[in-house]
Amino acid sequence: MNVAFPTWLPSARHRVLDLLFPPRCICCRADLTEVKQHASICSTCFGQLQLTAWPTCRRCASRVPEIPGPVDECGHCREDRLQFERAIALGSYEGLLGELIVRMKYDRNERLASTLATLILSELGEVIRELQVDGIVPVPMVPWRRLARGTNSPAALAALVGRELGVPVFPRVLQYRRKPSQQKGLSRSGRFRNMRNLIFAKAGYPLEASHVLLVDDILTTGATCSEAARALKQAGAAQASVLVAGRTPSS
Ligand SMILES: [Zn+2]
Ligand SMILES: [Zn+2]
Repeated sequence: MNVAFPTWLPSARHRVLDLLFPPRCICCRADLTEVKQHASICSTCFGQLQLTAWPTCRRCASRVPEIPGPVDECGHCREDRLQFERAIALGSYEGLLGELIVRMKYDRNERLASTLATLILSELGEVIRELQVDGIVPVPMVPWRRLARGTNSPAALAALVGRELGVPVFPRVLQYRRKPSQQKGLSRSGRFRNMRNLIFAKAGYPLEASHVLLVDDILTTGATCSEAARALKQAGAAQASVLVAGRTPSS
């Protein structure tokens, strides 16, 4: 039996739900029906997020001194021989944005991922479109960590960004060959050595001559993203760019 629901019903339902459970700022719990908001964040908290508004190295997204013209490579990139060509970050992995990114890693409801993806699209959507990527690939999580947390925030971000931009997402193309040892506590060059040849790209994906956008939550030295880019290129990709929610401020 077909029942025609009146068209006002869904919006009335939302109004009733808003009265019972008013939408709240995901940072400070302010009632968002009362204040201006950006993607579930009240305007006061939004103003505290350190979103990238400074000159950055095009290659590794680290902050660089103010000089005229774009910086194609900084000292770190040259030294590390990064395997990706470009990196963009929503903001600095510190302060309130840092807290949101950490919360996203443990958020099984993916509300934080959805909020950060909305911010990524509003702040960086144009830059990402200009990259004209052929596919989006999340940086893989180490399997035991993914199981322990029950979340996969790089995959959640990649899915949301890909859906909005109409770009295919390949969440399972990259896999770990073996369990890596802890990156924490290692020197910069140690982190790169630790990641060497750890990731591979599964066959059967349209990678040949493609430009792939790798998505991760945080970029620190770039060792993991660089290894992921190397694996994609070994499987035929021509170019790799990186999109992250947070860039650590000092590496
Ligand atoms: Zn707030
Ligand atoms: Zn750089």
